[in-house]
Amino acid sequence: MAIQDKALQGKVALVTGASQGIGKAIAIALGKRGAKVIVNFLPDANGSTREADARAVAAEVDAAGGQGAVAGFDVSNSASVNEGIKAIPQLDILVNNAGVAINGMLMRFTDEQWLKTLNINLNGAFFTTRAAASLLLKAKDAGRIINISSVVGESGNGGQAAYAASKAGILGLTMSAAKELASRGVTVNAVAPGFIDTSMTQEHLPEAAKAKLLESIPLKKIGKAEDIGDAVAFLAGPEAAYITGQVIRVNGGLLM
Ligand code: NAP
Repeated sequence: MAIQDKALQGKVALVTGASQGIGKAIAIALGKRGAKVIVNFLPDANGSTREADARAVAAEVDAAGGQGAVAGFDVSNSASVNEGIKAIPQLDILVNNAGVAINGMLMRFTDEQWLKTLNINLNGAFFTTRAAASLLLKAKDAGRIINISSVVGESGNGGQAAYAASKAGILGLTMSAAKELASRGVTVNAVAPGFIDTSMTQEHLPEAAKAKLLESIPLKKIGKAEDIGDAVAFLAGPEAAYITGQVIRVNGGLLM
């Protein structure tokens, strides 16, 4: 089936952690296809910087041809997630994107670092999926869940035990939810990005490590957040109706 412009008109999508980076690109890509997109942000203790970023993303969704809205909640806190989802009357597409990368060798990794990584990356996807499931079951055509994993969830990575474990966990959650929700027409897939240029990779990787990583990518370039946005917009659309329980690797060939 050919890619249909505006195929998501009338659909409502929620993208977690969408005030910047890959989440922002996903929100805009869904907006380009005509969706109403709820841009989730992490409310911070001292006010509104993330909310302002999220509102700017919502405006970009409008400009792309969709309809933007914002919702602040912390995915790692189930009460906050439940409260946030309760305010949403219709939901067709859920994208579990919010994540953090806390890196360090495992012998020195603290309980706090481990728990924070798992709480945001894995528990967050579970809490949000659980809270959104009843809305997705009511979606008119078929509800869609798209979880953002990572290449390291399949390959592992030294210095990223917690991050890789959380992203491997996302794959188990994806396949289990796909099996559980298939009879109700909801598809559940994962996108596993490789090395994508966002603040996550800019902040955590020294230049020398970046150059070495680039060498190992067959396409010899770093991915853009839009590459992930396009893959998610495809999985959210009618062209992907018969795809469920799959992992779509968007990594320039880094892992085949
Ligand atoms: P990013 O720019 O750091 O974006 C992560 C987003 O998640 C931020 O908007 C962040 O909000 C939000 N977030 C963090 N904790 C949250 C919470 N508790 N509740 C709600 N939102 C929260 O990183 P990115 O590169 O775009 O990453 C997006 C996703 O792609 C992540 O799941 C990441 O693991 C995955 N990924 C990235 C790469 C890569 O190469 N960049 C590769 C593979 C997978 P704040 O800005 O307020 O912290």
